[in-house]
Amino acid sequence: MWPSRNRTATVTCLACGDEVSRSTAREYDKYGDRWDREDKTFEHLCKDCYTDLCRQPRDELEDLLVELEAGERGQKSFLSGYISAVEDRYGTVEEES
Ligand SMILES: [Zn+2]
Repeated sequence: MWPSRNRTATVTCLACGDEVSRSTAREYDKYGDRWDREDKTFEHLCKDCYTDLCRQPRDELEDLLVELEAGERGQKSFLSGYISAVEDRYGTVEEES
């Protein structure tokens, strides 16, 4: 008998719902940090959807806003916190040399 390994060879693309083989799928980490793999389940995108995907860190924005307690601080202190958090994560927006 086969060993009861429950490892699926296909994953479902999160955008279009297609089944793609795990080896061709792209991992999509909604937390935006693919290198921190602990306690995470990755979602998957097929190659096409991955390519179509806008590379802007949009999904992280929500987390960032929660983290910075958007709406619970004054606008001014929120904005300065936001800018430094974004710079921490992505580097300065302009002039990347
Ligand atoms: Zn897809």
